This record gives sequence, C-alpha cells and structure tokens, in this order.
Amino acid sequence: MDYTEVKEKLVAKRKELEAQLEGTQATERHEVKEGLNDGAQLWEASEVRDGLDDASAGDLNQINQALARIDAGDYGFCASCGNQIGEARLEALPYATLCIDCAEGEEEMDRQELDPNEY
Ligand SMILES: [Zn+2]
Repeated sequence: MDYTEVKEKLVAKRKELEAQLEGTQATERHEVKEGLNDGAQLWEASEVRDGLDDASAGDLNQINQALARIDAGDYGFCASCGNQIGEARLEALPYATLCIDCAEGEEEMDRQELDPNEY
C-alpha cells in the first residue's frame, strides 16, 4: 500500500504543530511580562499553556513515530497484535499504532494504571 498521501498529511500536520508550539512559547513570554502584577492570573494562564504544550508535543512525537514507521514499512499494522489497522481508523487517526481492538484494550490498561509502553 502506498502511504505517500498519509505521509504528506503527517508532514503538514507536523509543521502546523511546530508553528503552534512556537506560538505558545511566544505567548508565554508575553504573558510573563503582562502577568507580573497579578500572580494568580499568571498562574492560571501558564496552567492552560502547559496543557496545550503537552498535547502538542505529544502529537508531534506520535507524528514523528508514524513517519518513521512509514519509512520502515511497518506503518498501518497494529504494534500489539500485528493485524492491519483499518483504513477508516488510520484516516481518523493517521498516527494510530494500535488496531481498534487493541486500542480499546489499552484504554482498559490505562484504567488499571499500567504503563502501556511496557508491553
Ligand atoms: Zn491489534
């Protein structure tokens, strides 16, 4: 299967996220300056920003991994059971590493507070 299109999509998304991360960093400097007179407000703003940063950085990481898998030729296969990840799922979540069944199983594990990376 040809993943050129997926790859292009991922690269575009990566650019978008990188710009977003740079943007939040720029905002941070602004907020620090503005918030000097109001500690509480500054704290609140940085909480929100940290959440954004974490989400974007996590996505960025997943995108990089997906791109590496495309290059390695094992993109589109479940990292857990080896079955093909459905095309619909990949369309919705281009950097999915697990098929829908295993992803649901992993959510199960998350609830038991186990680290899925250990498996
Ligand atoms: Zn699976």
